Amino acid sequence: MTDRFLRDTVRHRFTAREAVVLRVERVAPPIVRVTVSGADFADFTSAGPADHVRVFFPDPVTGELVAPTPAGAGEDGIVRPDRASISRDFTPLPRVTPAGVELDLDFFVHPDPGPASSWAESAQPGDSLVIVGPRGSKRGPQDIDALLLVCDETALPSASRWVQDAPAGTPIDVIATVSGSGDWVAGYLGAGPRVHVVAPDPSGGAVIAAIAGLEPIAGGVFVWAAGEASSLVPVRRHLRRALGLPPAQAQISGYWRRGVEAFDHHAPIDPFDPDV
Ligand SMILES: Cc1cc2nc3c(=O)[nH]c(=O)nc-3n(C[C@H](O)[C@H](O)[C@H](O)COP(=O)(O)OP(=O)(O)OC[C@H]3O[C@@H](n4cnc5c(N)ncnc54)[C@H](O)[C@@H]3O)c2cc1C
Repeated sequence: MTDRFLRDTVRHRFTAREAVVLRVERVAPPIVRVTVSGADFADFTSAGPADHVRVFFPDPVTGELVAPTPAGAGEDGIVRPDRASISRDFTPLPRVTPAGVELDLDFFVHPDPGPASSWAESAQPGDSLVIVGPRGSKRGPQDIDALLLVCDETALPSASRWVQDAPAGTPIDVIATVSGSGDWVAGYLGAGPRVHVVAPDPSGGAVIAAIAGLEPIAGGVFVWAAGEASSLVPVRRHLRRALGLPPAQAQISGYWRRGVEAFDHHAPIDPFDPDV
């Protein structure tokens, strides 16, 4: 049953690219879209809905941008800086234009802003960043009956990619945890998905109740959940234990953790029940 969820991985040239800000736009009340490009982006590829890039930011005090450099012209690999740098993970939203490849980076500007959110709020055309990755892309499964996406504001950019990646006509439900009315979420995701907005709930109970309000998750439904790691622990237990969904059918990623600066998303979100 889970074979249909097997996903192809494509490797990309792994390098560091210099990015220049072209435009800055507030696309939703809590989200600032920063569009970047540059000569290095000619071969930028990202085909997976959950792809991420590592974005290196200038020091908020000195303005100095400490970041990796490419291993060599056209080569695969990076040279890491010998000093501390400031970097965070973001979802690339790439687009090919007559002028080249542009990337939108949609920053959730949270109430307790770290360096990434602060940078985005004051970004201006002409500002510089360095972007590393993605190393590779995993396409979403294409042999599916329906898609269930669970996200918060930080995972909405990726959710928008899942919506575009799904085979035409796939029924899609999106459970979006956002503060306030969330009346902008459907517009952000575009036509297609049924959007269910829930209020932030560290216990995960609001998301679990929203899942219970949908049709039971059948064998052909692929589930992807991402966002605040602590509140996803009970959601993950519900999907895996109560509903018995195998890991290939329900993929859950912590994108940030409340109270943790520069959260490492490679760490298991539930150390007592890691994926093997
Ligand atoms: C694969 C992947 C893809 C991601 N894609 C995106 C994306 O497209 N857009 C996006 O906005 N984020 C995305 N994130 C999440 C992003 O990397 C984190 O939110 C990041 O920590 C923000 O950096 P910061 O410097 O603003 O805050 P940090 O310095 O990391 O954190 C500072 C403080 O703010 C709090 N905090 C951090 N993030 C949040 C938050 N989101 N909401 C509330 N409080 C927070 C922390 O608890 C901490 O106390 C992604 C993460 C991963 C792993």
